[in-house]
Amino acid sequence: MNFKDFLEEQGIAFTAFRERLMEILTSAQKPISYDELVQLTSANKTTVYRNLALFEEKGIVISSENNRKNYYELAHHAKAYFVCEKCHKMEEISMPNLDKKHIKSVVVKGTCDECL
Ligand SMILES: [Zn+2]
Repeated sequence: MNFKDFLEEQGIAFTAFRERLMEILTSAQKPISYDELVQLTSANKTTVYRNLALFEEKGIVISSENNRKNYYELAHHAKAYFVCEKCHKMEEISMPNLDKKHIKSVVVKGTCDECL
């Protein structure tokens, strides 16, 4: 993916930081927490926060909340997750057939086998 073209198509000015953010989100196999993004980009928290808010507003990323932390992932494929309410483990599950369009994400909460 050419991040420069992609960002500009969304009406977002290209910066090296935004490119880095896109690279991280693209290669991630699971939602990444805000803290991890701060760590991985070595940017200050405000910069990370502002850019994520912009990406979210433009519909590039979606955020979800688990154990009072915000997690971010790219929005181009809706994903479904199971979240254990005890150990807060998050795992991707197959997307239920909900017969609805424009689903962003599905979070199923419960208790995992290990915590039963
Ligand atoms: Zn658990």
